[in-house]
Amino acid sequence: MTAMDKTAYKGVYVFVEQREGTIQGVSLELLGKARDLAEALGEKVYAMLLGNNISGQANKLIAHGADVVICADAPELGGYTTEPYTQAVCQIIGEYKPSIVMIGATTIGRDLGPRISARIETGLTADCTKLEISEERDLLMTRPAFGGNLMATIVCKDHRPQMSTVRPGVMRTLPADANRKGEVIAITVNFNKSKFRVRLIETVKEKKNLIDIADAKILISGGRGMANPEGFAKLQDLAYTMGAEISASRAAVDAGLVSHDRQVGQTGKTVRPDLYLAVGISGAIQHLAGMEESGYIVAINKDKNAPIFQVADLGIVGDAKQIITLLNERLKK
Ligand SMILES: Cc1cc2nc3c(=O)[nH]c(=O)nc-3n(C[C@H](O)[C@H](O)[C@H](O)COP(=O)(O)OP(=O)(O)OC[C@H]3O[C@@H](n4cnc5c(N)ncnc54)[C@H](O)[C@@H]3O)c2cc1C
Repeated sequence: MTAMDKTAYKGVYVFVEQREGTIQGVSLELLGKARDLAEALGEKVYAMLLGNNISGQANKLIAHGADVVICADAPELGGYTTEPYTQAVCQIIGEYKPSIVMIGATTIGRDLGPRISARIETGLTADCTKLEISEERDLLMTRPAFGGNLMATIVCKDHRPQMSTVRPGVMRTLPADANRKGEVIAITVNFNKSKFRVRLIETVKEKKNLIDIADAKILISGGRGMANPEGFAKLQDLAYTMGAEISASRAAVDAGLVSHDRQVGQTGKTVRPDLYLAVGISGAIQHLAGMEESGYIVAINKDKNAPIFQVADLGIVGDAKQIITLLNERLKK
């Protein structure tokens, strides 16, 4: 077998995830990172925009960093199902030969990414937290390994494209620039419908009254030190007073006090609020991975040696239940 000609592969491509026509924040974050990588390589940023009646969104992608938007508009791409999306992205990859493909590590991205990489026979590094270009112009994909105890940098040397998924909240969105110019290319996907095994009949949405913790400006996060109904009721009271959202460590999620979509950390969400209040959380490395980029961190813990204090801007040592009660009373006044 001859070695592949890597120079034939160019451009940093981002799969743009949309749900009911709304572009998801993670795709804009990835366009921001794609710009850095493309500039390091001297190449362009391409957005792969798939959906039904979706082409009107192309300008938004250009404003956020895309040089070229490849748009596949088709009824088959209305709601997400694996096979039509895989076929569409594989067709784009086959025709345009990207050097790098980035996908958000959402439920859709985690389904789509592995399917594409297997079909086109390349590697995929999931849940990357850092992406850089090496001196040899390869993509250095860094992600937590061994339960978050070390960071592994993975290189896909012999195959192209180099594929990675990145969790929402890890990269930064570039501010929209309405003056940016770009090109929009409309493509027709040649679907092989005989492979379509799943049909979307209806989408039933879970009822949610709360804001996604990844979008919250203030988060009050409870851990095992508050993991009883009385403790979380106090946090909820304080959240109400402060206009904050509740999040939690895995210990509190496992105790059944909060749903998993409120978990912060390596196997939860990455958050970056202006204020993160960590209450009765020890600060395990897997938790820190999801919150250490927060604007201002306040930690309350009865153990003065708790690792959470190493990332906190303000640390309060004491019994969290008493402190939260007093804080709430004071703020209400
Ligand atoms: C592969 C893997 C993935 C993981 N992913 C995640 C993840 O995404 N998110 C996550 O959070 N964890 C994750 N974990 C688990 C993580 O390692 C920790 O076990 C977890 O974060 C501990 O939660 P905690 O800090 O609430 O509990 P603990 O570590 O038990 O800490 C409780 C803290 O509360 C303090 N405390 C107790 N009572 C009081 C009180 N009355 N007042 C004040 N302080 C008090 C204690 O001093 C202690 O510091 C993961 C683990 C693995 C192996």
